[in-house]
Amino acid sequence: MKKSDVVVVGAGTAGCLAAKTVADAGLKVCLFDRKERKNVGEKVCGDAVGKHHFDNLGLDYPSGDELERTILGAKIFSPNTESVFSIKGEGLNAFSVNRYLFGQRLLRNAIDAGSTFFESTQALEPAMKNGFVAGVSVRDLKTGSKTVLHSQVVVDASGFSAVIRKKLPPKIGVDTDVDKRDVELCYREIRELKEQIDDADFCEIYLSQTVAPGGYCWIFPKNEKNVNVGVGVAMREGFPNPKKQLYNNVLSKPLFDGSKIVGSGTWYDPARRPLDCMTGNGVVMVGDSACQVNPIHGGGIGPSMMGGALAGKTIIEAMEKGDVSREGLWLYNARYMQSYGAKQAGLDVLRLLLQKVGDDSLNYVMKYRLITQEDVLKTSMGEDLRLNITETTRRVFRGLRKLSFLRELRHAASLLKRVKVLYSNYPTSPKDFDEWRRKARDLIEEASG
Ligand SMILES: Cc1cc2nc3c(=O)[nH]c(=O)nc-3n(C[C@H](O)[C@H](O)[C@H](O)COP(=O)(O)OP(=O)(O)OC[C@H]3O[C@@H](n4cnc5c(N)ncnc54)[C@H](O)[C@@H]3O)c2cc1C
Repeated sequence: MKKSDVVVVGAGTAGCLAAKTVADAGLKVCLFDRKERKNVGEKVCGDAVGKHHFDNLGLDYPSGDELERTILGAKIFSPNTESVFSIKGEGLNAFSVNRYLFGQRLLRNAIDAGSTFFESTQALEPAMKNGFVAGVSVRDLKTGSKTVLHSQVVVDASGFSAVIRKKLPPKIGVDTDVDKRDVELCYREIRELKEQIDDADFCEIYLSQTVAPGGYCWIFPKNEKNVNVGVGVAMREGFPNPKKQLYNNVLSKPLFDGSKIVGSGTWYDPARRPLDCMTGNGVVMVGDSACQVNPIHGGGIGPSMMGGALAGKTIIEAMEKGDVSREGLWLYNARYMQSYGAKQAGLDVLRLLLQKVGDDSLNYVMKYRLITQEDVLKTSMGEDLRLNITETTRRVFRGLRKLSFLRELRHAASLLKRVKVLYSNYPTSPKDFDEWRRKARDLIEEASG
């Protein structure tokens, strides 16, 4: 095959948007996946995507069989399930999609824009030339033959596998490894219930460090009587098996009596701040490969599409200027940080706090509305964390001997703000990156401490 301008590894949500964006500009794009074309879009997922992502990207809303349900908001349950925050509003309007049909649509869009698609093609490693990624070494899974797909820029959109990122040489300047404590191992099932769930307009999220340490349990309504139900746990030392947690703590609820499994699966969700740097000479990382996932609810479909589109836009400009070096592609980092990464990093502070506080404290936070429903909504949309600490709550917490917890909360709110400011001011060129990264790491360490 002749050299492409851009090779995109993986036809998931990130890869399809990246491929479509560059192909729309008339560049020669090769998009490939280890899956057969008919299986692209099959993904272990919660299947919920915020409506605002479609608006931001100018994507048609899902319709027909691709749309399983329109979601109005989320109900968040405290660990003891005594308190419920029911949040809805513009930012929480979402679609529960048929993930397969949605993925097929995005692939079709990328191909219609002019991308050449290769199925059953597995990326093995980056092909390096003079310090640049100059293509990808691949294996044809049907014949076993190996070849190199040459290009000016490679987009690693291989999801959590991050097959290119993990094999980049250190000199490229990208973190090849992600701390597994920041990754959620998830198990989920699609279940057909005997009766439709009450209030099927809301996604349900159950916070419990006992049942889902470092993560949460979810019940997301799908079409008719189906629900998507799962547990995600952070892969910290001694983490439990999420499938066992689901069976012992969630599927044991009367709601699931007599229900049937329609589908099941296990996969990883890198629910944390984005990679510090997502570009190198001749290479960019998008989607899960760049950890573009909301750290609180684990949603990565929207941000991965955004990452793909922003990477595509930057690649087009870099190629027009004839500079696909780390510096030439750098703007993609800054663009992503400003549009989503800063919010993601701020929410990562909240994730790290939630992992530390324990179920009792979280029960109190929700019972005494130390954060109000409205402020949960606003924070989830990227605003600062506002605390509702009154003289009464202070008295209650003094009585409970938990005043230090209030201090911890205040500290987290201030850290969240500082992290967001830092990520919003991501350096516009690599020369200031080391200093920025030092500050970012110090803040995240403080949040983890
Ligand atoms: C259980 C679970 C529930 C989730 N729920 C939600 C949710 O409700 N809403 C939401 O927004 N997000 C959710 N997410 C996150 C979301 O699924 C991902 O963030 C998103 O799909 C990332 O898209 P991507 O394109 O980066 O990766 P992927 O969708 O994983 O696509 C990667 C593609 O690369 C291909 N590939 C991998 N390795 C190779 C290779 N070596 N060679 C060639 N091709 C390769 C794969 O076959 C795949 O097609 C959930 C994740 C999990 C695990």
